Amino acid sequence: MSTHAPKGVGHLRGDEPFPAAAKVALANPQLRRNLQHATTTIRGKSGRVIAELPDWQELRSAGSALKAYTMANLPRLLEQLEERVTAAGGVVHWAADATEANRIVTDLVRQTGEQRVIKVKSMATQEIGLNEALEDAGITPVETDLAELIVQLGHDKPSHILVPAIHRNRSEIREIFLREMPGVDPELTDNPPDLAGAARRYLRETFLSTKVAVSGANFGIAETGTLAVVESEGNGRMCLTLPDTLITVMGIEKVVPAWQDLEVFLQLLPRASTGERMNPYTSMWTGVTPGDGPQSFHLVLLDNGRTAVLADEVGRQALHCIRCSACLNVCPVYERTGGHAYGSVYPGPIGAVLSPQLTGVEDNASLPYASSLCGACFDACPVKIDIPSILVHLRNQAPHPRSEKAAMAAAAYTMDRPKLYERAQRAAKLSKLLGKRGRGLPPPLNGWAASRDLPEPPAESFRDWWRGR
Ligand code: SF4
Repeated sequence: MSTHAPKGVGHLRGDEPFPAAAKVALANPQLRRNLQHATTTIRGKSGRVIAELPDWQELRSAGSALKAYTMANLPRLLEQLEERVTAAGGVVHWAADATEANRIVTDLVRQTGEQRVIKVKSMATQEIGLNEALEDAGITPVETDLAELIVQLGHDKPSHILVPAIHRNRSEIREIFLREMPGVDPELTDNPPDLAGAARRYLRETFLSTKVAVSGANFGIAETGTLAVVESEGNGRMCLTLPDTLITVMGIEKVVPAWQDLEVFLQLLPRASTGERMNPYTSMWTGVTPGDGPQSFHLVLLDNGRTAVLADEVGRQALHCIRCSACLNVCPVYERTGGHAYGSVYPGPIGAVLSPQLTGVEDNASLPYASSLCGACFDACPVKIDIPSILVHLRNQAPHPRSEKAAMAAAAYTMDRPKLYERAQRAAKLSKLLGKRGRGLPPPLNGWAASRDLPEPPAESFRDWWRGR
């Protein structure tokens, strides 16, 4: 089975290719300053706590092996998860794509008779465009993670997996709160504790008066049917415990085989993502518990292109991702363009390999090129995803213009024939075009040279030097 995420629903495809969107982002110096400050700070914090662990590399290898085992046994583990969740009083739903997942969640909320839901930050629900689907059905979703709330109130899009409002500074946040937050103090300053206090007051009222919550899940344990959400603010804990009904949307790749596997991931994730030794809030629940927490629990298992990714032996590594965002924070491309340029809810290096595979490469054909292939993402990834190799693999699958194919075929023909290659080298040296560092080259080479200088041909080729000896 290899069905990709459908068009027209969700947020996996941008309005324009990466190079065009990146140009707009690069023209915004404030955005670059915000990004540089935030990524440098997180990188430093994360680097310090990782250095404390002498077995960090062994932990990375363990995380990688566990994920590879999970992918190799995915159908069996998912069925086991379904069985355990059902036995514990939960209801499991299978959603082939974003449209089906949105319909399931919307119907479940309607059945409760409620018109408002509180949400825990979740990439899966952003991916499928759940907020829009709920709003279309007359249901108001309220994001409760502070950064997600800023994005929602600003009618904006998230630009980072972990810090969705990384592109906003505090004075911009103050303006958004003053404009959009119900009951906010008009004297609100842009002092971070004051901004957090305003959000806290608004959210506490919402937590206490909303009966349905929607969450994602960081892990779903097949062995026990337990779901886990890790977070830093405690808003997740409120959403997962206070309402009567809890609906969790989980990508099928988030299943892990056994309870003990959390030992590895709960060490890797906080150190690689927020630079903390452990997550401030780790919430786990198994089905429903009479008299304690939500009395109605639904788990929606989401495919939306994941089985197509799984079918690709090289690309499937992208499903190992635990969404720590370490690859974003070390990526020189992401640090300059920010997340919006990627057009998908998954930005940065992981987005460049995951989004094209979920949608089909032709729908996100520019993303595998949104990288210098420096390899920093591979080094930073806590589960050792070889992102550069997947990027190259996807570049080979991306549709190439006819002119480019012809140019490559001509280059291959020439390089295969030493005499011809030598003549081409001499011609290149003489060419006035190269004197312009590639700027005057014909298409498609002018595209390549638009952001790079063509290397000057050496005064003497290796062959001439060799002959001279
Ligand atoms: S690819 Fe690796 S580094 Fe990037 S978000 Fe996923 S787990 Fe983190």
